[in-house]
Amino acid sequence: MPDMEKRKEKQIIVIVDDNPVTLKAGRDIIKNDYNAFVVPSGEKLFTLLLSVKPDLILLDIKMPGMNGYEVIKELKSRDDTRDIPVIFITSLNDAENELEGLNLGAIDYLLKPFSAPLLLKRLGTHLRMLSQTQTLKKVNEELLQAKEQAEAASKAKSFFLAQISHEIRTPMNVIGGMAELMREDNLDEVQKGYLRDIRDMSGSLLQIINDILDLSKIESGKMDVFPVHFSLADTYTHLCSTYSCLARNKELEFRSFLDGELPKVIYGDEIRIRQIITNVLGNAIKYTHQGFVELRIGKTIRNGSDWLVVSVADSGIGIKEEDRSKIFSNFQQVDQEKNRSIQGTGLGLSITQELVLLMGGSIEFESEYEKGSIFTIYLPLIFGDKGKIERNTLFERVLAKGNVSVLVVDDNPVNLTVALGFLLTHNIKAKTASSGPEALGILWEQARLSHEEPVFDLIFMDHKMPDMDGIEVTRHIRKWEEKTRQKKPIPIVALTANAVTGTDKIFFEAGMNDFISKPIIANQLNTVLKQWLPPGKISAGAGEESKEKSPLKDQMELLREACKLCSTDEAERIAAVLPQYAGSSEMAAALEKIQKIIKSYEYEKALNEIDVLLKSLDRG
Ligand code: ADP
Repeated sequence: MPDMEKRKEKQIIVIVDDNPVTLKAGRDIIKNDYNAFVVPSGEKLFTLLLSVKPDLILLDIKMPGMNGYEVIKELKSRDDTRDIPVIFITSLNDAENELEGLNLGAIDYLLKPFSAPLLLKRLGTHLRMLSQTQTLKKVNEELLQAKEQAEAASKAKSFFLAQISHEIRTPMNVIGGMAELMREDNLDEVQKGYLRDIRDMSGSLLQIINDILDLSKIESGKMDVFPVHFSLADTYTHLCSTYSCLARNKELEFRSFLDGELPKVIYGDEIRIRQIITNVLGNAIKYTHQGFVELRIGKTIRNGSDWLVVSVADSGIGIKEEDRSKIFSNFQQVDQEKNRSIQGTGLGLSITQELVLLMGGSIEFESEYEKGSIFTIYLPLIFGDKGKIERNTLFERVLAKGNVSVLVVDDNPVNLTVALGFLLTHNIKAKTASSGPEALGILWEQARLSHEEPVFDLIFMDHKMPDMDGIEVTRHIRKWEEKTRQKKPIPIVALTANAVTGTDKIFFEAGMNDFISKPIIANQLNTVLKQWLPPGKISAGAGEESKEKSPLKDQMELLREACKLCSTDEAERIAAVLPQYAGSSEMAAALEKIQKIIKSYEYEKALNEIDVLLKSLDRG
């Protein structure tokens, strides 16, 4: 029995030769090390192969009946025998035919009569190599399979993210949008507090979704940097105004410093640079309970090049030595015990580090537990060109003059209400359609009734709708425009809750002009309106026409709300356009004074001044 098992374990070698002397000699040499079979012809070999699967065949060339070449051709043509390695055995005077044998797929040749040590050595070497090749092949197949599984998992994750982001963003659009549009005038203090909480929390939720999407973009290598020429001082001022307010709410001292040596305009991805600083500065405020937070933006020279240096210091809870290595990892929040009450996902710093690396920079930190931390970011400093700064639409609210015809298409009635509410703040009374076919019906009808072109000044088109989605509706509209030879195509802007990269391509391919993501953000909408509405039909803040269109009192009340919420961007935007509404030089001076007060973030003082002015306006 043990002998049988040993026999079983041994590799199988078949010798094929018409000469019994060769068969016997070969078998005697190998029988101790291998499981040896001998057959006198090619035909007999194929009979044997019905019951035996050899690990290697030693094959004679010159044989009556099938010769060696015919045998190997047959072996290589069959699926079940193709992979069996073959070594030709030739006598010395056949040696010139070796090449033909090798060309037909043999792995080697051996000379007859056999030399025992040489035969054993060659067999050993080949079988070892074959076994290694087979192992490698198996490992490769497993790796390939694992790669395919990983790719499928990654695809499933992207799909899931796209779906979930859509599912979450749609209701968020409604919650955030409605809260944004709701006036506080008729609410008592408690209700105002509730409303502010709704706004804050929907903002936090959106931040989490955006972080997860950023992470998935980074992981799939789809995160891009879009450099522009921008004013560093403006970015610094905005950051300071937002974060000084947040620091003040926590009774922290906010210190800031911008190096006067820095160029006024730099070239870089403004949005991502702002995101990097926001993450680190936000953490500093979040993890500091008393003392100060400090933002410094300066420059340095390293290896002969200029670098922008952003450092954020705090007197906060600090980071333990043993947690140092964890803080840049995904979903890692350190010192859980102490940070229990602090909100966060543990994604901020990991995204920050990835963004910094993507821009060719680096991030480092020093920290002393329970004393504070300093995070320092180095980014390549590229001087910008003032003339190439894209006009900042932040402070110029687009207001419609007279009749601007806009159509909003969305299957969700609450989303329509939110969109209409936002558009109303731009003096736009939009038409609505709750499905693709309804939108097309309205368009044809409008075209029949009016001969003005384009039929609509702008269409906002939801992406995902039952029956006919936004892409299909757009294709229909573009085809109709072509058929009816419309002179001007209607600008179509997609409204999408899907923020995964690559979706924008689908919109443009379908003939859409632009897209904005849901939840609708006031500034994004403003930019889109400015870009796509006919310039003659709008005034962008500084325009003459806005004087009559937007009463001073309304704007003052909006400003009052913004100051109360320490909503710096909003307050600065409104304050910047206020002086143009002044009917007299005294009023202009008073409004400019408020603007200055707001620029120094003294919101209490600004509120007093606003109240005085409002009262004087009430008195007429
Ligand atoms: P989170 O959303 O939890 O703030 P981050 O990725 O931004 O996630 O930060 C990771 C962890 O690093 C935080 O949970 C916190 O424990 C720690 N951390 C970050 N910044 C500071 C800081 N300025 N002071 C103390 N701890 C910090």
